[in-house]
Amino acid sequence: MDSRLISVDRWAQGSQVYFLTHLHADHTKGLSSTWARGPLFCSRLTAKLFPFKFPDLDLSLLRILDIGRWHSLSLVSHSGSETTFQVMAIDADHCPGSVMLLFRGEFGCMLYTGDFRWEATSERAKKGRDMLLSALKDDVVDTLYLDNTYCNPSYDFPSRQLAAQQVIDIIVSNPEHDIIIGIDTLGKEDLLLQISSVLKIKIWVWPERLQTMHLLGFRDNFTTNSTLTRVRAVPRYSFSIDTLEGLNTSHPTIGIMPSGLPWVRRPVEQNGDIFGSFLRNRYKRGKCSAQGEIQTLERIHQYMYSVPYSDHSNFAEIEDFVKLVQPTNLKGIVSSSSCYVEPIYYFGRLCGANQSTSQLRNRHKRKGSDEMVGTVCPDASYGDNNFVGSERKRGKTLKVKFSGVRLSRLSILRRKNHRGAKIVENNSDDQNS
Ligand SMILES: [Zn+2]
Repeated sequence: MDSRLISVDRWAQGSQVYFLTHLHADHTKGLSSTWARGPLFCSRLTAKLFPFKFPDLDLSLLRILDIGRWHSLSLVSHSGSETTFQVMAIDADHCPGSVMLLFRGEFGCMLYTGDFRWEATSERAKKGRDMLLSALKDDVVDTLYLDNTYCNPSYDFPSRQLAAQQVIDIIVSNPEHDIIIGIDTLGKEDLLLQISSVLKIKIWVWPERLQTMHLLGFRDNFTTNSTLTRVRAVPRYSFSIDTLEGLNTSHPTIGIMPSGLPWVRRPVEQNGDIFGSFLRNRYKRGKCSAQGEIQTLERIHQYMYSVPYSDHSNFAEIEDFVKLVQPTNLKGIVSSSSCYVEPIYYFGRLCGANQSTSQLRNRHKRKGSDEMVGTVCPDASYGDNNFVGSERKRGKTLKVKFSGVRLSRLSILRRKNHRGAKIVENNSDDQNS
């Protein structure tokens, strides 16, 4: 195997260039302040945020990818000859600085989404769509590496704007309560800004988070002075039902957990086999009651609400994206999702891949319970199967263009809680493809 590689969200030794889609922990596992394995390409905003996460990292290693512009890079091949490839960063609308990466070179055309939200109503996603289509022109994506976090038809949550309004409604309907909202060290800024601007209040954040907010340009909406506001955003894992019960002994307090995961697991039996488990969808996107109330929020405890505010795409959005890209091959970048099944299972009809849904279903059934694949929603609708052929005009172009010149492939890591891929200059070792 050639040691000269291109790695995306993967930090092991042996690559010549490294790419980071965004700064969430599951994409930086293996990266540390002492990391020095080569140039590291990321968006300008991610580079700006780097010192917060990795204070001692040698910043001279960072290389900026301007969004929407092709960058040409050179690699020295195993034989010593120089080869070039191009890469473009496209806004992933996931968290500050997050990008998808579109590669093209001798290895073909590959799109790595990182984590992304593909909301039809989002201006940023619309810009991303235009950027992607204009970058692709008549090219076809050989392999789409897809954020499949919620790649299951059960995941049918609303837009972030709608979910944010639900959070606001909870706050307004509990005027005597303190409110705490669980967030990560990066992401959900738009939710907090919407709350702040609609309710005309500041939101408390912890000191490091305030620094991040200031760096992102949000100077007026946040404070570390808890006497100025009843709404606090706290680290997601720092509060629990126990914490809330403790807080309620001194002051009425409501907790809100924004997440795309308001689901219940339960085992499913099909034809005598335990076919996996499926996630019972308690909420339907945008469904309204007779009173106009959106039925997507749940009080999971006397003091705790779960609101389906997600920075990942829901199933319908993922499907829209795959329809738009029409890749030849499709692979998920998440192998630890609670309902993981290879995305090709659902979207094979939209791709040029040779794996049929039934083949995949059989394969999943054969896998043991210790495998990370195999949880399938048995009542899923697979839609119209007439897609292949009729809507894959660009796929035909690909076959002509790349026939016989494919030199590389991407291999996906299947380690739990770790995402990433590397492009390998190798056309003989296929055990991971
Ligand atoms: Zn992320």
